[in-house]
Amino acid sequence: MQKAINLKVLIILMGALIFSMYQETPAQRTKKTNKKTATVAVKSVAPTINYTVSMSKPWTHLLEVEMRLDWAAMPEKAELKMPVWTPGSYLIREYARHVEDFSANEASGNVLMWQKTNKNTWQIDAKGAKEIVVKYNVYANELTVRTNELNADHAFFNNAALLMFPKDQLNASSTVKVIPFGNWKVATGLPKVEGQTNAFRAENFDVLYDSPFEVGDFKEISFNVQGKPHRYVVEGEGEYDLQKIAADTAKIVEEGYKIFGDLPYDDYLFILNLRGGGGLEHLNSTALQWNKFGFKPESRYRDFLTLVAHEYFHLWNVKRIKPDALGPFDYENENYTKLLWVAEGGTAYYEGLLVERVGLMSDKDFLASKATQIQALQNRPGRFETSLENASFDAWIKFYRMDENAVNNQISYYDKGEVVNFLLDIEIRKASNGAKSLDDVMRYLYTEFAKKNKNYAPEDFQKIAETMAGKSLNDFFSKYVRGREEIDYNLTLNGIGLQLKTGSETELAYLGADFVQQGERLLVKQVQIGTPAYEQGLNANDQIVAMDGFRVTQTDSFAKTSEKPSDSVKDFSTRLEMKKPGDKIRLTVFRFDELRDIEITLGGRAKPDFKIAAVENPTEEQRRLYQSYMGTELK
Ligand SMILES: [Zn+2]
Repeated sequence: MQKAINLKVLIILMGALIFSMYQETPAQRTKKTNKKTATVAVKSVAPTINYTVSMSKPWTHLLEVEMRLDWAAMPEKAELKMPVWTPGSYLIREYARHVEDFSANEASGNVLMWQKTNKNTWQIDAKGAKEIVVKYNVYANELTVRTNELNADHAFFNNAALLMFPKDQLNASSTVKVIPFGNWKVATGLPKVEGQTNAFRAENFDVLYDSPFEVGDFKEISFNVQGKPHRYVVEGEGEYDLQKIAADTAKIVEEGYKIFGDLPYDDYLFILNLRGGGGLEHLNSTALQWNKFGFKPESRYRDFLTLVAHEYFHLWNVKRIKPDALGPFDYENENYTKLLWVAEGGTAYYEGLLVERVGLMSDKDFLASKATQIQALQNRPGRFETSLENASFDAWIKFYRMDENAVNNQISYYDKGEVVNFLLDIEIRKASNGAKSLDDVMRYLYTEFAKKNKNYAPEDFQKIAETMAGKSLNDFFSKYVRGREEIDYNLTLNGIGLQLKTGSETELAYLGADFVQQGERLLVKQVQIGTPAYEQGLNANDQIVAMDGFRVTQTDSFAKTSEKPSDSVKDFSTRLEMKKPGDKIRLTVFRFDELRDIEITLGGRAKPDFKIAAVENPTEEQRRLYQSYMGTELK
């Protein structure tokens, strides 16, 4: 918060604080109410929970946790539970497997007996003690946005992967005190406990588990947008310009504000680790990971900004605009929703849109990225097997566990979700003659659902989109969201004067498999259903040794386009390009260590090179709708 603060800002900030408190506990309120009516006689006293997280020997990768549980209503058998997943990453990760050296004592020091009753529950024989002290270590040696890492350089941790909760007490507030190693600094989105160093408080467990920590000797920079403080902490050396990152991020924040009309937090923290990749969204923070050399050239820096925009936009879309099952959370089981295509696909769509709107991406590049997405989708036979809603629902068993058959039986709710949100935006713009857009849908979800503490269902989303369009979109939703029909891109794109071009007319030889070079080995990565490779017996994991008796390898695409022309004679793709549709090839492969020959008659298809371009002779209306969408003239 700022030092010189005027009354108006204070009122806004207090409003935001009250709102965010109210915001984060809707169903917990319901739960409380239910409990009261159900068990009036039982005095429900909330426990006082204080955690201390230490890291005295960071090189051992052990985070040391002390949990003090002071509870007038302490059960005879107190049960502590470790979450099995963390919101935003829809896979059961079994964080309990990293817990070791568990012990429990009375505050006086008397040892308490305990036992594990299932994979993530520690049951303590509390013997009516009012206060107990639990200690355990958590092995932390995996840097991803949803796991923990502690080493000689820093600590990054997610509380869902570190701190246990008492059974049925997810409404309880708690404090976390961090004892950093040496002179390391501490950063988190949680508010500070007044008068204490490195101590923070959480209103409830949804907030606690939503607030990652970075502890280390990080670099930092702060900036304000709409009077609200924003901060980057950056861990690791890298080739980046922090001033520029802050300035460009401020523009993205401002653009988000323009859509929703407020910034619903007191402050916002960007945690950036310069290793790994990806991001995870939180209520007033985000954890980002990016390659230390990934800020140049301009196109890769733009990719970084789209990651920033993605995670930042989530503070609305998913963290506050909540799909039915996503919050309050069940930390011990899968939380199923059919809406990840909006929560993730919609956010993937807005990441590019925000960066384009602030002028950090041209409309040409924006449309080129959409064409690339469409091409990737059209290359997946899985689009006929799985709908967007089903892909969302099955995220827990499929999205994070892609295998070689995924191309044939799955789609990504990110990728197809982005495409369908893009088309939906255009449909709404077209139907409302430019008066409404997907922005209005998002804004409505924010004001009428998020701010009123309601989660939204699939029917709500369609209904709101239809309200904005001013017509039924049932055909669109039943074909492209609930169904698996081939998308008629041009039917939508033409509305704003655009068309999809899919490539040259000339047919080229086509095999229908993807490959990966691992050292000296060229392996079949996946085989698309219905292709010559699929029908004539090439398998995923076959190691291709030779084509027509001569060795082939796969040079990577960078090398292929630039420096290594001499290698191209061995390059498998280049050799295939020399063939014609109908030509026979003999592939010599190792399959399970056995050498064999496979004869394949090549098929044919036009070289896919998807582009989105202006239609011939666009009408005035098409020009106007394009202009209002992209902010530039249709060319
Ligand atoms: Zn996301």
